Amino acid sequence: MPEAVIIGSERSEVGLPTGMEVLRRGGSALDAVEAAMRCCEDNLTDHYVGTGGLPNAQGVVELDASVMLGSSRRFGSVGALRGYPNPISVARAVLEKLPQHCMLVGEGAALFARENGFSTAELLTEESRALWREQLRASGESVEGENTAALDGDRRYRSAALDLIRRLAPHEGPWGTINIIALDALGEMCVGVSTSGYPYKYPGRVGDSAVPGAGNWCDLRAGGAACTGRGELSMRGGTARSVVELLALGREPSEACRSALAEADALPDDFRAELRALALTPDGRHGGAAGQQGSTYAVMTERSTQPELHPRSVL
Ligand code: ASP
Repeated sequence: MPEAVIIGSERSEVGLPTGMEVLRRGGSALDAVEAAMRCCEDNLTDHYVGTGGLPNAQGVVELDASVMLGSSRRFGSVGALRGYPNPISVARAVLEKLPQHCMLVGEGAALFARENGFSTAELLTEESRALWREQLRASGESVEGENTAALDGDRRYRSAALDLIRRLAPHEGPWGTINIIALDALGEMCVGVSTSGYPYKYPGRVGDSAVPGAGNWCDLRAGGAACTGRGELSMRGGTARSVVELLALGREPSEACRSALAEADALPDDFRAELRALALTPDGRHGGAAGQQGSTYAVMTERSTQPELHPRSVL
């Protein structure tokens, strides 16, 4: 019987102790991932997930999240979901309650969340709104009609926002989606991913976090993997699935992550930004890779008192 373990990307430390507590009490990998991720989504100081996430080009927070189970490869995700603070739970409900479907986006995802009794909340905090506006000011464009001379404001605003997306690099400090992967005492594995996506994204944009094979993949025959960073690259690279295929060929987790990232990194991309990956095997081995030195991921086993940081291998 494997020892229960839970791992996560940067900033998952906020939720991993809660997830490990679920596993220690005999809870499932899915329960653990959901509980851990909800803590991250509720962390107001984190501007890349849940409440307080940075908004899209129109100033509206849109969230993507997914869960995938290793034994069955059942998958549930939501994309561009507005107004619901815990998209990981809505993604779980898609997996468990909606016959046949794997993914819901936009209005349909919100309708499903409402029908299933999830509560709405204001996701844009004062702090995230201020961060969003600060970056827009840097473009020299007005926000919300402050510049009354801009009569064709809508058109100019949109073109400025799109220009910003091109120039936008992740700002200093912790950034990116959160990945959490759990292995429970019965040997089931679950991969969970949650994000507000990159700031200033085009409204309706769905990233890799909601897309199976891109930001999330879990197959108990080999392991689970998840990505953070430029989602368009991992969608084009099928990166999370590539990691798991490399695990199936016998590669160690950090090497599998490194090779899959290198493959995606070789794609032509005018908006190149870093991609990171994380993996866990059914016998509890784990590893990660990133484009820069000093990147880490966090691990807890049943014996841990707190998350332990491990270095990711570098591309
Ligand atoms: N992967 C996320 C996305 O493309 C963004 C990130 O992790 O920074 O939506």
